[in-house]
Amino acid sequence: MARLEPFHRNLLRTAAGDHHLVTAEQVHGSVVAIVNSPREEPVSGADGLVTMTRGLTLGIYVADCAPVWIVARDGSAGALLHSGKKGTELGITREGIRILTVETGKPADEFEVVIGPCIRPPCYEVDFSKEIARQARDAGIRQIHDEGVCTACNPEHYYSYRREKGLTGRMLATLTLIP
Ligand SMILES: [Zn+2]
Repeated sequence: MARLEPFHRNLLRTAAGDHHLVTAEQVHGSVVAIVNSPREEPVSGADGLVTMTRGLTLGIYVADCAPVWIVARDGSAGALLHSGKKGTELGITREGIRILTVETGKPADEFEVVIGPCIRPPCYEVDFSKEIARQARDAGIRQIHDEGVCTACNPEHYYSYRREKGLTGRMLATLTLIP
């Protein structure tokens, strides 16, 4: 993962402009932290990040676990979560939506959810992407996008922790509220 970091940062600069990248420690928990200013160290104990600051880039590393984006339709706030089997069981998507609605005062139906590539049945026995969508729906979000892409089925495009038995890189998922 450390070897991929310069590569990730370069790619990010090309794709999103030179914004400050903020990452989370990622402990397979359900803590979602609010980040509104640049910082160097990953946010300790967190698996999800919320921001209302334009121009700041949130980053989450994944390789089978799902990256989950929750974004206000007007582009004023967003969350990026790391949600694998454990984090999903602990309800990290529910927690991300709770924090966003409290912090912005907007109802849940003003947000949309995107579930990124992750490992899915039959490559994995637990359908956590389905549970992520359920948590979003139960919280009141109506726009939920999931293209159903499985990381383990697509070796040409994605790292898969399980397929490679742990000896793999990570993808960097990012979210930037456009200034
Ligand atoms: Zn698969």
